[in-house]
Amino acid sequence: MTGQPALDRITLRGLRARGFHGVLAAERELGQEFSADVVLHVATREAAAGDDLTATVNYAEVAKDVVAVLAGPPLDLIETVAARIAEQALRRPRVAAVDVTVHKPQAPVPVPFTDVTVHVHRRRGDVGGPAAPYDVVLALGANLGDPRESLAAALTELDRHPRVDVTAVSPLLRSAAVVRPGARAQPDYLNAVALLRTTLPPRELLALCQGVELGHGRVRDEQWGPRPLDLDLVAADDLTWQDPDLTLPHPRAHERGFVLAPWARVAPHAVLPGHGPVAELAARAGEPGEWLTDDWWEAGG
Ligand code: ATP
Ligand code: CA
Ligand code: CA
Repeated sequence: MTGQPALDRITLRGLRARGFHGVLAAERELGQEFSADVVLHVATREAAAGDDLTATVNYAEVAKDVVAVLAGPPLDLIETVAARIAEQALRRPRVAAVDVTVHKPQAPVPVPFTDVTVHVHRRRGDVGGPAAPYDVVLALGANLGDPRESLAAALTELDRHPRVDVTAVSPLLRSAAVVRPGARAQPDYLNAVALLRTTLPPRELLALCQGVELGHGRVRDEQWGPRPLDLDLVAADDLTWQDPDLTLPHPRAHERGFVLAPWARVAPHAVLPGHGPVAELAARAGEPGEWLTDDWWEAGG
């Protein structure tokens, strides 16, 4: 072994849904029962010591993902169903490996039988390619140094990463700084929202962003203090994640005009998980500031 920590197991058994997987027309039309057992291999020790749910994997969320695949778009083979479930589970950063068994007890088999099952085992970083790409909403802000330059450079640096693509960028917004009551005034911010497509797990993406912030002279002292660069992960697909180091969606995004308005510009039909349509939230938050330019960042620039 390579000195990696021993992994604990969390087992979810008998997750069930009516699905439409199979190659026969009758299967596609009528559907049948599918079920799945999932074993998550995770480092739970930290969580057990602190009795802290947020430090482990939220298996209720995993269960929902599993049922969504079982009941979701029809696939020909239960091998594919099992592989999709494994992929979903591995998107949770603490899951290092997963076993998935899919049952199809009503499969069209012309002799008496009780069940057909397929089992797959997948590890993070397994052959079969990197994790499935997913979309991340990134909020950028800066109010020290040359904010426009820093925001543009940050996007270029992220886009250069082999597992990150910047797919859309909002216009640049100037907004008044929000400061704590009684705190000193700050220069205005420049803000923007970018859409990223990535195969990095959310935590690795956050670490990458924090590295970019540091490269632009960010010091982490006072929360909401003035800063040369702030990169926040606003949302990652429809993932919800509760951890002080990474909360998804971002816990304050739903009330921040300077996030919502640029987000609505790049993704007019976006929905903020748990809060509703971004365009409506943006309208409710009010005019966030002054729009400066659409044309401030170019891929490869
Ligand atoms: P706010 O979170 O209200 O926007 P801030 O951006 O000033 O405040 P920071 O000092 O940049 O706060 O970050 C504090 C901590 O927040 C970071 O160490 C980071 O681990 C954590 N954090 C939790 N969820 C997220 C997220 N979705 N995006 C970025 N950082 C997050
Ligand atoms: Ca922030
Ligand atoms: Ca931040």
